[in-house]
This record gives sequence, structure tokens and C-alpha cells, in this order.
Amino acid sequence: MDTAEREARSRDAEKTLEALEAAGVVAVAATFVDNSGITRVKSVPLDRFAHLAGWGVGISTSFDRFRFDDWIAGDGEGLEPVGDLRIIPDVRRIVPLVAQPGWAWAPADRYEQSGEPHSQCSRLLLARLVDELAGQGLTARTAFEVEWVVSAGDGDDFVPGVTGPGYSMTRLINRSTYCRDVLTALHDEGVRVEQFHPEYAAGQLELSVPPEDPVSAADTSVLVRSTIRAVGAIHGLRTSYSPKVAVPGVGNGGHVHLSLWRDETNVFSGGDGRFGLTDTAESFSAGVLTRLPALLALGAPSPVSYLRLVPSHWAGVYACWGLENREAAMRMVTGSTGSEAHAANMEVKCFDLLANPYLLLSGLVASGLAGLVDGARLPEPIDVDPAALGEDILAGRDIKRLPTSLREALDAFRADTTLTKAFGPALVASIAAVRESELALFEGASEEDLAAATRWAH
Ligand code: GLU
Ligand code: MG
Repeated sequence: MDTAEREARSRDAEKTLEALEAAGVVAVAATFVDNSGITRVKSVPLDRFAHLAGWGVGISTSFDRFRFDDWIAGDGEGLEPVGDLRIIPDVRRIVPLVAQPGWAWAPADRYEQSGEPHSQCSRLLLARLVDELAGQGLTARTAFEVEWVVSAGDGDDFVPGVTGPGYSMTRLINRSTYCRDVLTALHDEGVRVEQFHPEYAAGQLELSVPPEDPVSAADTSVLVRSTIRAVGAIHGLRTSYSPKVAVPGVGNGGHVHLSLWRDETNVFSGGDGRFGLTDTAESFSAGVLTRLPALLALGAPSPVSYLRLVPSHWAGVYACWGLENREAAMRMVTGSTGSEAHAANMEVKCFDLLANPYLLLSGLVASGLAGLVDGARLPEPIDVDPAALGEDILAGRDIKRLPTSLREALDAFRADTTLTKAFGPALVASIAAVRESELALFEGASEEDLAAATRWAH
């Protein structure tokens, strides 16, 4: 980024000031997500926003190695405290925060002081991979589902903050005002909510948003989660996105939906393949399916993620695919008859919301691109809960369990040359250092201790 571009960005920011002031904004929070999945922030008073938009604010390079509990997973070379980056917000996405009056938020990229993109910025990485996809004449439309749990009070113990059976009116009535305020806040922040419901884990709720280009979808995921947390705080509720808030029962997922489009046509429908898939959609999907073990190091990034990944909990723990199969890691969705052309997509279910959404979508796009290059093909789809098939049939049909530990997923990630090449050695090393550090931290920990230690961090 040269000086002319910096000045252009500052001018763009200046154009937003009047509206931000009118909305009562006094300060802007610029966020990025680190490799451990924590959203980190630097903020400026509104009168510094135009400067921020062009020149950024400083942030230590050591954040590439920050763990969820703020430990820095160094490599012993002592370089972590040396060096500085600049956080530069994306002015196009700035939005006043409804549940944090006086604040506006914008997602940020990280640049070197020289103006070069930081090689480990996950948002810039995703933008580059989306450009690569565009080079094939394709655009991806993606969305993250959000499942979360609310706890009553602000203590560290989990006290379900909403009660009643899953999917029940009782549960909705129990926290009607809070639920309304979540929906209103998102609406007023320009986030469309497609549907909202009480889920079935203790204290759990869920909402989904429409698909967008990948960078916007990751930004939206950050905004939605911050907004839900902020509305909860107003209502005296603590929010957790942890995949396992309490050890018994189902967890919080962070399912990803993805469709691919060529010239405004969804290639997940209207093809000659199974369930209407075109060759392009099949190859892209197969590229993802074969890499799921490695992708779990991005999408199920913490040891606690693996407490959720158990069979028959709708978390999709088998490396297989199937039409509307909620126990397949890749659930193919065609939509209702007549809606396929816009509705058809793949849902990857094995991921959770501790993932850095930019890294995870980068992994999915890189995997899909590799599937396209290879002309990869999907195996036979599975139309039952794989857990019901029994070990022999699973082995006979070559259906494998996904990694059952972060160690296994990390080994698969390190061995996957498509992903390591797309991410580059520095980012791979940082991701691995953070994962190794979490593995060491929780070595020998009980499931209860693991759940408790990670419950409120993300
Ligand atoms: N809570 C489940 C999970 O851990 C998902 C339930 C659903 O399919 O909505 O992924
Ligand atoms: Mg759900």
C-alpha cells in the first residue's frame, strides 16, 4: 500500500464521519482474529478514524503466536517482542454497534510498516484465495451458522441462562426479550438473519445468516458473535461459543455453508451428477472432503473441539458426504423443489466457532481449488448415520472417523502440501506453535477441566 492509497483510504473514511457522528459514535474498534480464534482489538476515538484508515495503528507481531489465554507460543528464538505491524480497518464495512452505544466496528487487515501486506494476515490470505478462485471464473458464497450458549450471571460456572426443551416455545418465552434484542441489534447493524431458534443443548440458541462472499461472511461471523455477546451483557447473560460448554450433551457447532457460482449460476445445482451437482461442484467438494482431517486443525482448533466431535451428536465426525445427512461431515443441501438454483450448497458440519473464520475459509477455498485442479471425484454418498453401520461396514466402504484429537488434525495439516503451500511457511509455523502450545497446556487435563478452562475465552 503506497502513500496515494493510504490517502485515498483516509478520504473514504472522512466521508463516513458525518453519518457515524449522527449515530452517536465516539470511537471505532478495529478487529482481527488471531490464530487461536480470539478476536483482538485496537480502537481510536472517532477523530482519529480517518488517520487509522490510511496509516493504521501499531500491533505487535507476537499476536501471530498468541494463545487463547494470552500466553505467547514462541519458538525460543526471542523474536516475539520485536517488530510491529499496522492494523488497517476496512472502511467499507464500518458499522455502529447497537449493543455498545458510542462504538463502531470495522474488520481490519494487518500490514507491515512498509505498507506490504503482512504475510500472516488471515483476512488478506482469504482475499488472495478468493481472487484465485475468481481466476477460474468462480465466486464462492459462504455463511457461518452460529450456535451459542447463555449462562445466567457472570460467574465462571455454567448456569443455563435459558431453560425449556430444545426448539420449544417454552425456551423462547423464557428469554423472549433477550432474543428480540439480539434480532433487533443485528437488524440495525445491517445483518440479515435468515432464521433463529432455541437449540437443544442446555442454554443453547442458534441463528443463521445469508451467504456472502467469503471475506464478508467471515467479517459477519465476527460481528454477529460480538453483537450477541454484547446484548447478553446488557441482559446479565454470559455468552459462550465453546464447542463444549458442559461435558455432557451436544456442543456448539460452527457449520459452514458454501456454494460456488459461475456467471450468476450456482454450480451446485443443475448438473448431471448426483443430486444435481456439476463436475465443478463435485471436484471442489471432493477437494474439501479429502482434506477434512487437515482442515480440522483450522476448524476445530482447540483440544476442547474434540470433546464435541463424537458420533451421533450432529457434529459430522465421519469423513463422508450425503444428501441432507446431518451425521455426515459434508451434508449436501439441495433445498426445496423449485429453489435448487439458489439454495443448493454444501454444509460442512465438523467445525466449531473457536476457528478463525478467515483461516478456515482460506483452508476450504484452497482445498476446493486443489480439487478443481485434480478433477477430484466424490465417493458414494452415505444415507444413514455412519455410526449405525458398525466398524466392519464402515471399513468395507472406506468411511473413516475424522481425527479424534487436535494432535491428529495438526499432523494431517502439517502433512498437507496444498494447505501449507497456500498458507506459507511463516503462517503454518505460527498456527502449529499455537496448537502445540494448547496441546501441551491441556496434556492430561480432565474433560471437565478442559471445558472449564476454555468456556469463556472466545
Ligand atoms: N449442535 C450441533 C453441533 O455441535 C449441531 C446441531 C444442528 O445440526 O443444528 O454441531
Ligand atoms: Mg444447530
